[in-house]
Amino acid sequence: MNLRIPGPTPCPPEVLQAMTKPMINHRGPEFAQIIKRIAARLQEFFQTKNDILVLTTAGTGGMESAVVNTMSPGDKVLSASCGEFGDRFAKIAETYGAQVTRLKAELGKAVDPDSIRKALSADPSITAVLLTHNETSTGVTNDLKALAAVCKEFDKLVVVDAVSSLSSIDLQTDAWKCDVVVTGSQKGWMVPPGLAMVSVSEEGWKAVANAKMPRFYFDYQRAKSSADRGQTPWTPAVSVYFALDYALDLMAKEGMQNIFARHARIAAHTRQRVKDLGLALFADEAVASNTVTAVHVPETLQARELLRILREDFQVVMAGGQGSLDGKIFRIGHLGYVQQEDIDKAMVALEEALARLGFAQAAAV
Ligand SMILES: *Cc1c(COP(=O)(O)O)cnc(C)c1O
Repeated sequence: MNLRIPGPTPCPPEVLQAMTKPMINHRGPEFAQIIKRIAARLQEFFQTKNDILVLTTAGTGGMESAVVNTMSPGDKVLSASCGEFGDRFAKIAETYGAQVTRLKAELGKAVDPDSIRKALSADPSITAVLLTHNETSTGVTNDLKALAAVCKEFDKLVVVDAVSSLSSIDLQTDAWKCDVVVTGSQKGWMVPPGLAMVSVSEEGWKAVANAKMPRFYFDYQRAKSSADRGQTPWTPAVSVYFALDYALDLMAKEGMQNIFARHARIAAHTRQRVKDLGLALFADEAVASNTVTAVHVPETLQARELLRILREDFQVVMAGGQGSLDGKIFRIGHLGYVQQEDIDKAMVALEEALARLGFAQAAAV
């Protein structure tokens, strides 16, 4: 099976093998060593000296933890969204009682830093900004450096969903002054689902001390005091820690800059192959993501049928569109454990599936 969705992503066999190790005491010295090792390696990839908390939860749990630990009911929060995941972040904040101002970029486009500047100038009572680094639903990477810089012109707390970027695309947590950054194990980290990793800056910890939203399982102060003792407050997904520990080893061997370069190269290759087939890219190419490519479904075709043929006849699994883009786009994941060869195989299948559906104008366009 060629799993070409933007998470969960394929895992190296050795990473999966690491998960078959017997259970250990999660309050014992061996697990404490793993926690320490993972935290140090994660700091390198987050490019931060900040604390990194590892939570047993999905990426969305990581996003929820960032909201409830840094905000209070009634707080004014700016959400800068360019798709489904940005909208989800806003919804979480609203669910817990924040007053959210929603800034929305056109789908397929990135968030304009000036739009954030305008919104923050218009309402000085806003305290925090919710950003998405890589919008997986549209295949767009925001210029996080520029967006965070604008937020910091106004001294706002910067809270970032980096679930599908961190590990694969450069994100300089400290240099760009990102206060809370969230990622998830099943995206670029080559690890199965189960862990969210979150960095918290000094400013972030100040916000945590004042935040009044209800929280228990996701309480950062509990997570931090446990981590300082080489533990977690609750029973963690021990096997996924084994996997992450091993994957971080592999990633350190490849080297962070090499990983970024591999993703950039494979993404450019993917976009070119898509265009060569006569298909149209969905995202503005200037801001197209290095981890996921969104493609317009030709008007004469049914997205569901195309994905079914790819899955059943070619063992290639691609993702459909989410929300309002359902049926309109399909998405190709190229993050984590991926080589150009995986994309080439998927593209051969895509070409044949398109031909079978009567989409014949390939190469002619
Ligand atoms: C996948 C993803 C999430 C959600 O992760 P889950 O583990 O499915 O909860 C959030 N944000 C982005 C940008 C993602 O790609």
